[in-house]
Amino acid sequence: MHEFLFWLIIAILAVDFLFEKYLDYLNTTKWSDTLPEEVKGIYDEEKYRKQQAYQRENHRFGMLTGSFSMVLTLGMFLFFGFALVDSWAWSLTSSAILAALVFFGILMFASDLIHLPFSVYAVFKIEEKYGFNKTTPKIFVLDKIKGWLVSGIIGGGLLALIVFIYQKTGTGFWFYAWVVVSVFSIFMAMFYSNLIVPLFNKQTPLEDGELRDAISDFSKKVGFKLDNIFVIDGSKRSTKANAYFTGLGSKKRIVLYDTLIKDMTTEEIVSVLAHEIGHNKKKHVVQGLIIGLLQTGIVLFILGLLINNPHLSRALGVEEPNFHIGLVAFGVLYTPISFFTGIFMNILSRRNEYQADRFAAENYSAEALASALKKLSVNNLSNLTPHKAYVFFHYSHPTLLQRLDHLKQYEK
Ligand SMILES: [Zn+2]
Repeated sequence: MHEFLFWLIIAILAVDFLFEKYLDYLNTTKWSDTLPEEVKGIYDEEKYRKQQAYQRENHRFGMLTGSFSMVLTLGMFLFFGFALVDSWAWSLTSSAILAALVFFGILMFASDLIHLPFSVYAVFKIEEKYGFNKTTPKIFVLDKIKGWLVSGIIGGGLLALIVFIYQKTGTGFWFYAWVVVSVFSIFMAMFYSNLIVPLFNKQTPLEDGELRDAISDFSKKVGFKLDNIFVIDGSKRSTKANAYFTGLGSKKRIVLYDTLIKDMTTEEIVSVLAHEIGHNKKKHVVQGLIIGLLQTGIVLFILGLLINNPHLSRALGVEEPNFHIGLVAFGVLYTPISFFTGIFMNILSRRNEYQADRFAAENYSAEALASALKKLSVNNLSNLTPHKAYVFFHYSHPTLLQRLDHLKQYEK
């Protein structure tokens, strides 16, 4: 049985990898040296050439890093690397909680260090070359350290708690773990902007002036509190612009990148803000949270059924079953299910984007939003002609052309 599970894990990893590479390849079939008809009026010749070069470079780099990671992962399974790390962990401690922490700590930290040259290259070579990068080496190093601390404390804390619950409750483990993870998720959804974001960025309320007045008029009209609108210093790391809606209840907020404000007219900014308020009005964050909690419940339930099975650990070359080894095997075996839930989440998210666009168009201006979206795409050198299949599997937003087409019906 464990022999079969072992090869099933290898097969899942291989099929998943080949499928992803196939989707990447499909995207490359849409590359063009001349400006495609449908993109005329959005990109000019020169910007389009730059976008294509950026696209190609990222594709080649993605192939390299993806293949490297794949070889590494396969190697870990084929040569029983997880069993080795597991034996190191147990040589340091006899506590299952500490062993799980050491085990995942070593794996995560090693993986991050091995991939470090790739992330350095991505930021300081590729992003730099196309004029996006603002990250200094100092910010980069600090981000890394802070990232390790945050994931160590939060991830480690949750892991320790879940192993503890597993030890105490046995078969009913999934339910108690679900309650704990749910409470934690709701807490994080509420306080993420207060607790985590400030470690990496400054968020400031809108400054007085023309923009604040325009935004104030609009938020009064649609009943959204102006105090919940913040500007974030995205320019600290990149010239790329963005905006997002986050949080629950009294903790909800809309965050605009300073780069967005710099690049756009007042009307365009208000239209982006209107789109984000649309997400709030249509309760998209709450919806996402509820679906996330249901999914977590299902994952933990299936995990609860399988985790006691010694074949999971044996598939990875560990004789004496334990929670963290079982979790690694389960993680891969669950991929086919998460593949389908991922598709569902993307379909839902794209539908939500249309709803938010519609809200902005009906309550503010379809023209201003269309113009803002074009500007965002061009400034970020976005791919305007992705392959249909790639969009279906991976895009959380409709493509720019789809969104412009959808907005047309609301133009006055
Ligand atoms: Zn949106």
